[in-house]
Amino acid sequence: MKKINIKKYINNANVSRFRFWIQLISFFIFVYGGYFFIEIGSRLPIFSCPYVPGSPGGCYLLGVQHELNSTWHTIFSPRGISILKSLGIFLLFFIFLNKAWCGFVCPLGTLQDWITRLRKSLGFSFTRYDEMSFKRLKVIKYILLALLILIPLAINNSFFGLPKLSHSMHTPFCKICPARTILPLFNGDTSQIYIDFTDTTTIILTSLGLMVAALFLVGSFVKKRFFCFFCPMSALQFLFSKIGLLRLIKNGDKCTRCGNCSRVCDVGITEIADDILSKNIIKDDCMMCLKCVEACPEEGALKVKVLNFDIFSATEEGFFKRYGGTSKFETSNKDDVLNSNKNKDE
Ligand code: SF4
Ligand code: SF4
Ligand code: SF4
Repeated sequence: MKKINIKKYINNANVSRFRFWIQLISFFIFVYGGYFFIEIGSRLPIFSCPYVPGSPGGCYLLGVQHELNSTWHTIFSPRGISILKSLGIFLLFFIFLNKAWCGFVCPLGTLQDWITRLRKSLGFSFTRYDEMSFKRLKVIKYILLALLILIPLAINNSFFGLPKLSHSMHTPFCKICPARTILPLFNGDTSQIYIDFTDTTTIILTSLGLMVAALFLVGSFVKKRFFCFFCPMSALQFLFSKIGLLRLIKNGDKCTRCGNCSRVCDVGITEIADDILSKNIIKDDCMMCLKCVEACPEEGALKVKVLNFDIFSATEEGFFKRYGGTSKFETSNKDDVLNSNKNKDE
């Protein structure tokens, strides 16, 4: 009887195809699951937006903005324990998949990947940031995260004697989040496409929300995972990514710095190829899509681990199975396979 080597089977697998199906199923659940009585909680580490009529759960960012809309006295009283409790629930969700929530589950991430597919099928090329812009722009998500925390706090508390902010600023990020405006459209709900004329603050925030939604659609068409680069959820996740059980591990001794991994990376992380010292190679923009592991031709140079167990490793055979040719190719031909695809979408 023919034995199946499970490890080899997984290492040779086309993870990107598997990811496509997981994303599709997740998108369906996170946009329509509520209609099927699915309930996943309200502290999810992705944009499962409660403004979507069919949403089965809520994004943690909405909850934390509500919770921080309290006085210091409340926050540091026993009621403040509920803030820690909801952070704990967020972490419990997050700890299992780490940043793979972004690569496999988040509906807003999936939508960007679908827009990329559309752009690709129409034959348009995509843009990448140069290294300097990459370094400068990536700071924006941390600024957004800080504002998302500080603005709700400043509604009920005065900072440095400054006047408190208007109550119209509660949940400020949700007002500008593209998930709130775009995802309900998949339920045929256009109610979030509006400008709130209640006061100047709401006019500004809701107008900004429409602009961000338009920017999301146009930006994702020309730049892969355009919004993820600025996403405060990604910034928050990265703060805790060291405790995630799922890890992307690099063995710098086995890396030849061929650059295949960074060429296929949709968010343009160059350290995945250039950094040969870090073992835990997850960077803040990484979404754990695992395309880099698929594209690495060096045995064990990149690996996905859960605790100490390898679950998916870069292998020469897997690389050739995914990128064409056979494992009988000479090593010198490996680079040709990917370099010939260098300016195309992977
Ligand atoms: S970075 Fe933000 S928008 Fe992108 S997949 Fe992650 S949570 Fe979703
Ligand atoms: S693809 Fe593999 S060998 Fe090439 S640079 Fe990346 S980690 Fe190193
Ligand atoms: S570094 Fe690898 S896992 Fe992370 S986003 Fe890039 S290709 Fe995906």
